Amino acid sequence: MTRPLILTTDLEGVLVPEIWIAFAEKTGIERLRLTTRDIPDYDVLMQGRLAILREHRLTLADIQAVIATLDPLPNAAAFLDRIRSTMQVIVVSDTFYEFAAPLMEKLGRPTLFCHTLETDDHGMISGYRLRLPDSKTRTAESLRLIGFDVVAVGDSYNDTGMLGAANHGILFSPPANVVAEFPQFPAVYDHEALYDAIVATHR
Ligand SMILES: [Mg+2]
Repeated sequence: MTRPLILTTDLEGVLVPEIWIAFAEKTGIERLRLTTRDIPDYDVLMQGRLAILREHRLTLADIQAVIATLDPLPNAAAFLDRIRSTMQVIVVSDTFYEFAAPLMEKLGRPTLFCHTLETDDHGMISGYRLRLPDSKTRTAESLRLIGFDVVAVGDSYNDTGMLGAANHGILFSPPANVVAEFPQFPAVYDHEALYDAIVATHR
């Protein structure tokens, strides 16, 4: 008996650019380019980012206005439309609803599982709340538990748990070190090849 298919896909690096890096470019705030590759402790990294935003007196609304000028990756919206005609899709990301909102509009508002920001009375970001730890991996595991066959797509280290927990894991445009370390996952480098690889998992 075949189980219904569901796709869980990462957001940044698959459908949209890296939001913090694009934001750093738009605002010229170089220190916001740091990622988990530079500062492996996520909380240290996030607290640093929030301090920089406070220093520049950037409110959540200011940040959203900048993010609203960003666009999805070329062909990403068309890819998403096309794959959604064949299976259910959940975008699973470690970003925040408040940041992703303008970009999700441009992607046709797919379902998004991510995290939440906290703001103070002045509209400044005062903190963040992870929905749950290791949410990508646990999403893939949970969907299998409730009767789905899961295809998972991601571009980097923080996706490999989800790819491993899924029935099929596919790397999209990953850096060479991730390809070398995770040879069990096929890698594709454009959205057309990604569509074909996803469809091929259930032929
Ligand atoms: Mg990513």
